[in-house]
Amino acid sequence: MNRLRRWWRQRFLRKHRIPLPLWETALAQARALRGLSAGERRRLRELASRFLHEKSIVGAQGLAVTDEMRVSIAAQACLLILYLDLDYFDGWREVIVYPDAFVVDHEEHDEAGVVHKTRRALDGEAWGQGPVILSWQDARPGARGPGSNVVLHEFAHKLDLLNGSANGMPPLHADMSHPAWTEALASAYDDLNRRLDRGHHTAIDPYAAENPAEFFAVLTENFFEVPQLLYETYPKVYEAFKQFYRQDPLLRMRGE
Ligand SMILES: [Zn+2]
Repeated sequence: MNRLRRWWRQRFLRKHRIPLPLWETALAQARALRGLSAGERRRLRELASRFLHEKSIVGAQGLAVTDEMRVSIAAQACLLILYLDLDYFDGWREVIVYPDAFVVDHEEHDEAGVVHKTRRALDGEAWGQGPVILSWQDARPGARGPGSNVVLHEFAHKLDLLNGSANGMPPLHADMSHPAWTEALASAYDDLNRRLDRGHHTAIDPYAAENPAEFFAVLTENFFEVPQLLYETYPKVYEAFKQFYRQDPLLRMRGE
């Protein structure tokens, strides 16, 4: 980094860095943020500070968004890009937080061109150029059991959407193989669907079997929250995620 950039960065951080007590609370509360080294915590705090400066996190339906909530969301979102860059979240500005599951109307066209209107209650939603939408009831720390994390889930969709459609393939790095990614994810996806069709219990949330985009988002939750489970169930997916996120949460949590 050249001297001018470093100077700008220091100046920005002096003015906008997340205050330490708020930061430590966020780190202590979120399961996925455990085991980070001192250097990683520093890097994450800087990314989250910049995230909060660039994005607005607003409440819907009368929800008052507190600084604790903002920092919690920013820290977990930025865990995904800890070894990538904040520009992976470019192209949109807003995070909307509902107090509870929110109802959305969707219109879908089937192959015959018929429009189907559906109404569903969601705990989160992410669109290509639009906001990330979260239900605080589901996104607050401790809301879900180990392995489940609505914040990681929705922001993983944002990464997937970077190269167009939500299809379970984010923009891979130059040193990564597209066929290896597809093979790892597709065979795991087929395996999960087969197990569910046979009525087997799976430790992976069955929602992952919905489509490849949900598979990527749900397994990203597992990768950061319960890396051992993903490593043991689908080691090739774990390896592919390790290359994409440039992190090894299993190693991190073992060293805790
Ligand atoms: Zn989803």
